[in-house]
Amino acid sequence: CGIVGYIGKKQAAPILLDGLEKLEYRGYDSAGMAVYDGAQINIKKATGRLKVLNELTHGGELLPGTVGIGHTRWATHGEPSDVNAHPHFNADHTIAVVHNGIIENYLKLKNQLIEKGYSFISETDTEVIAHLLDYYYKKCENPLEAVTKIMHRVEGSYALGILFADEPDVVYAVRKDSPLIVGKGKEGNLIASDVPAVLKYTREVYFIENEEIARLSEKNIEFFNVDGEIIQKESKTIEWDI
Ligand code: GLU
Repeated sequence: CGIVGYIGKKQAAPILLDGLEKLEYRGYDSAGMAVYDGAQINIKKATGRLKVLNELTHGGELLPGTVGIGHTRWATHGEPSDVNAHPHFNADHTIAVVHNGIIENYLKLKNQLIEKGYSFISETDTEVIAHLLDYYYKKCENPLEAVTKIMHRVEGSYALGILFADEPDVVYAVRKDSPLIVGKGKEGNLIASDVPAVLKYTREVYFIENEEIARLSEKNIEFFNVDGEIIQKESKTIEWDI
C-alpha cells in the first residue's frame, strides 16, 4: 500500500527501506524492492514486516545500485505471499513494476496476454502491467510510449513505479486514483505515495495528477500527459514536519 522510488548518487536500497518505513502507517502484508546494479535489475521481496526485507537484503546492501523502486503491499488480488509481493516483472527481468491500487480489467488483459504466449507466475492483478509493458515495449522500443500505451488499456486505480533495464538511468511514475508524489532532491530524485517518505531528502515536491507521467533521472524531472506530450508542473515547498 506504499510506493517509493529513488534515482541519484546514493545507494538506492537503504533510501527505499527508509521511505517504506515512513509509509508503514498505510498498512501492508509484504514488501519488496527492485534495484538496477549497473548490469541488471535485481529483485528481493518477502511476506511480512519490513524487518524481514531489511534482513533479507542486509539493510539494502545485497541490492547495490543507485536506481530503484520499493513497495509495501496490501493484498487485493492473490493472498499475501512472496510470489505475489511486488515488484512484478516481465519474463526476462528487464522491466520491474510496483503498483498500488486495483486493475479492474486484469482478467481480460491476462487472458489476452496468455493468448499471445505470456506466462503468469503470480495471482495478482499487477502482474498484467509488467507483461503489458513488455508487449508494447517490444513493439515500439520506447519506454515512455509503452507506458502511455498501457495507460490506455488498463482500467481501475493505479500508482506505479517502473524500471526499464534498457533505460537504466530513469524511473517512471504514473498514477490514476491512487496517490503519488515526486520529490526533487539535491542528491537525487524520489517518488512516493506520500510526502513523509521524502522529507528527509527534500522539501520540494510535485503532486502528480491523474493520468500524468513523471520521468525521473538523477538530475532532471520531466512530466508528460497520457499521450506522451510534455507538460509543465510547478513544485511546492513543504513547510511542515512529520
Ligand atoms: N492490487 C495489487 C495487489 O494486490 C496492489 C495492492 C496494493 O495497493 O498494495 O497486489
